[in-house]
Amino acid sequence: MKLTDKIETQFRISLVQKKALKKLGLETVNDLLHYFPSRYTDVSQIRQINTLSQGETATILGTISKLKTSKSFKSKTPMGKATLTDLTGSVNIVWFHQPYLAKMIKEGSTVCVTGKVSTSKSYGITLTNPEISKSNVVPVDLAESLFAKNNGKNEPASQFGYAVYSESKGISSKWIYHAIRKILKSDCLESIKDYLPREILDRYNLPSLRTSLIWIHIPKKRDHADVARKRFAFEEIFFIQLARQKERQEYQAQDSYKLKISKKDIKDFISYFPFKPTKAQTEVTQTILNDLGLDKPMSRLLEGDVGSGKTFVAATIAYTIIKNRPFDTIKKKQQKFGNLQVAYMAPTEVLATQLYESFIKYFEHTGISIALIKGSGCRKFPSKSASWQNGKQIKTWTPIAKNQLLKWIANGEIPIVIGTHALISKSINFKDLGLVIIDEQHRFGTNQRMKLIKKESNRLKKAPHYLSMTATPIPRTLALTIYGDLDLSVLDEMPPGRKKVITEIVSEKKRLEAYEKVRKELEEGKQLYVVCPKIGEEEIGLSADENTLSSLRSVVSEAKRLKKEVFPNYKIEIMHSRMNKKKKEEVMKDFAEKKINILVSTSVIEVGVNVPNATVIIIEGAERFGLAQLHQLRGRVIRSTYQSYCYLFANSKTAKTVDRLKALTKATSGFKLAELDLSLRGSGLLSGNKQWGITDLGMEAIKNIKMVEAARKEATDLIKKDIELKRFPLLAETFKTKEIESHFE
Ligand code: ADP
Ligand code: MG
Repeated sequence: MKLTDKIETQFRISLVQKKALKKLGLETVNDLLHYFPSRYTDVSQIRQINTLSQGETATILGTISKLKTSKSFKSKTPMGKATLTDLTGSVNIVWFHQPYLAKMIKEGSTVCVTGKVSTSKSYGITLTNPEISKSNVVPVDLAESLFAKNNGKNEPASQFGYAVYSESKGISSKWIYHAIRKILKSDCLESIKDYLPREILDRYNLPSLRTSLIWIHIPKKRDHADVARKRFAFEEIFFIQLARQKERQEYQAQDSYKLKISKKDIKDFISYFPFKPTKAQTEVTQTILNDLGLDKPMSRLLEGDVGSGKTFVAATIAYTIIKNRPFDTIKKKQQKFGNLQVAYMAPTEVLATQLYESFIKYFEHTGISIALIKGSGCRKFPSKSASWQNGKQIKTWTPIAKNQLLKWIANGEIPIVIGTHALISKSINFKDLGLVIIDEQHRFGTNQRMKLIKKESNRLKKAPHYLSMTATPIPRTLALTIYGDLDLSVLDEMPPGRKKVITEIVSEKKRLEAYEKVRKELEEGKQLYVVCPKIGEEEIGLSADENTLSSLRSVVSEAKRLKKEVFPNYKIEIMHSRMNKKKKEEVMKDFAEKKINILVSTSVIEVGVNVPNATVIIIEGAERFGLAQLHQLRGRVIRSTYQSYCYLFANSKTAKTVDRLKALTKATSGFKLAELDLSLRGSGLLSGNKQWGITDLGMEAIKNIKMVEAARKEATDLIKKDIELKRFPLLAETFKTKEIESHFE
């Protein structure tokens, strides 16, 4: 068997199985070997049949046979019967009153049963009415072991637990387990060479690739599984860091504009703002100004909650850039004319227009021209003809033909250009682009961002400085990983005078009281959001073993219930991801126009919704959401000048849940909450792992700041010394294939 062999050449599989494997992304033997278990069963509780004794309660794992239903001889009670067999013997299983149980189980299936043991001479061992669960645990011969062969001792294969794999219709965890076992026993393991440098493995006590592969699939003890997972988690972060550090190094190796920064000019510019900057705004601005004074291009990510005032920072930096004249690289001196330009990209027309309006306010006194480019038309500020208002002359913007605007951008006459992704268009050429700002950068793909930064039209062949901004709260370790090519700044302070949302965790007993408080708001004409963790009664996107599922409130039924029992006099509508876009927009519009009083929704209202008249949000099943996500949901009612409220209902009332939710009542920054969430709940529940392109295993590493820092340090050191990784050809090769894979995603 070779690692590159197609699975179907080594295993007999049906068409259905082939499809299932494809769905799981498994094509080759090597893919299968790198398909890691999602968990391990704890078999420490499982007993062997030949050790059971009368009267005890025990859990056994085995195969079901001789299933039948009948009526008991004396009382005619309906009953089900079966035999359960493990490697050491058999027991009888009897279900009284629940004959249907026997029908739900298939002959030959593997099940786990827990029940009281009774032994009798004539019947042998019997478990009566045991709890039973179908098991995807793999019952392998407990005496057979890869390790036993290796070390010559006859130890049990696994004292710790069996690997359980995510399944797809047609391919069971059991199938995968056995297939991987077969691969591990074959000679193809011999051909595996470790691509991670030995010195790095040694430094962090990580096992070799071959050992890790064996240990992750067939761990003999918990430690083995842990350390193998640690290696692969490290590896994933390390490869991401290699890519990021390489990009960073390449970007920074370019020539950029070393800026002259006039403190007086900046102070002057800031004095025109209608507010005093917060301490955080001042500090972040200063950090960025320091970057701009160096002769390499800045690349920085600015994280800040919605409303933390990122536009102030963007405007001040933009102003500094524009106050600089282009540097003539040929004559090697500063030009005496012209100015550097700024491109500012936002993800939607609405956002771009809002930014445009803010920038006009902030730049009005400077006489600097600002353009807006979007699909639906372009604008230029100021217009030549002034308009008059109350006897005062005011400057306004004017619509402008795109062609004319493009000329002015190309000859450098317009210093600031704000726009949607229309900005990336090839027809837009800047004369001297000195700064690229991207707002809500996660909404753009890497390619889109790079296209704007790499506008080749820059005649002086200088790379612009790059400022990326986001309001999505993610923990620092995650930011360091996925945005490892950027320096990180955080605006962790809100402008003063904002009313805090009054946040309460409400117990079920006080539910009606809370509704009465909400009713007062509704009576005053305010509006209400109700957020539920699922859409309908069927389960959505939650794992099947959640037994609390049935008690979760759903959008559909909660809307009905509220209409019938709580707020019959108000107009209630629903919104969720399965409605089409048009319908969703319609509902949002009606809500914004106050035609709807109560909007019952899933967490889809998180993004891009702004209804100042909505002052209350109720969140059902609050324990289901991440803290940062709850914070963003709560942010929906922070828009108004009225006092607003957030009521959290939780299904689970454990001390841990309550503690976690309490953090919300105090916290101010979404980023701090994201951090806290990661430490309290772990990465599994961070919203949308997939969105970051990191596997669940990689997310385990994100929890561990030491591991992320180690992977980052190693990657940085390697790339700094040897950007082509010439010293480690195998690493270079693996890195290249991973880079290609990630580019095609
Ligand atoms: P962000 O882009 O970070 O979501 P904005 O820059 O749009 O936030 O600012 C949100 C609002 O807060 C704007 O109305 C802005 O004028 C105001 N603002 C920003 N900074 C301050 C400050 N230091 N003091 C008072 N208000 C501020
Ligand atoms: Mg903003």
